[in-house]
Amino acid sequence: MIVGSHPDCIAVGEVANVIRAGVKPSWIENHYPICTCGHCTFWPKVMDAINLQNPSKLSDRYRIFLEVFAERFPGKIAVDSSKTLDALDALQTCSECSVIRIVRDVRGWNYSKKGKISPRMMIAWLRSNKALENAIKDYHPISVGYEPMVFDTRTTVEKLCKRLSLDFTEEMLEPNVSKQHILVGNPMRVNKEHRIKYDSRWMQKPSLWPVLLKPVMDYNEKHAYSYP
Ligand SMILES: [Zn+2]
Repeated sequence: MIVGSHPDCIAVGEVANVIRAGVKPSWIENHYPICTCGHCTFWPKVMDAINLQNPSKLSDRYRIFLEVFAERFPGKIAVDSSKTLDALDALQTCSECSVIRIVRDVRGWNYSKKGKISPRMMIAWLRSNKALENAIKDYHPISVGYEPMVFDTRTTVEKLCKRLSLDFTEEMLEPNVSKQHILVGNPMRVNKEHRIKYDSRWMQKPSLWPVLLKPVMDYNEKHAYSYP
């Protein structure tokens, strides 16, 4: 949503979750009135074009999405927040894209999910982050810590813009969602201020596990607090 607020960009939410084959048309249609733009006319066009050919491969469906996007928003960059590897693989076959990987503090992630910090979850976090890092390394992702994005937003966004070859603009810090087409995904689209709501409960709950699991915390320090 932040990158999507740049004048050259438009955020389109979790595209793969809308366009992939097998998603119920009624489920998608129910989202048109709650698109961040107000009442969407862009997504119905996308779905009409996809349904006309109805290819089964996600990459072919992405290609149609990008064609409709380019026609409707000439010269703009689509900001897709899909979180799955198959979406990234599909997108890479039909467009040039920059990949942004956001890593959240393991303690915050763990606490938000389970209401307590557990060694099993911390180790699962490390494993899945390492697996993801390995799986997307050929895409040369820009790694951004979630915590700097929340607590040092301006500096982080300025640095991110440099990496993306975009000129930083103030609008990025005050996302205007009505210009965006986030149909599915991003909890920020449904909170009124359109800001990241940080769950800080873990900070009030000291735990010994982070002290004992040093390899997890080393990885956490390196990635969850990194600037672009
Ligand atoms: Zn829309």
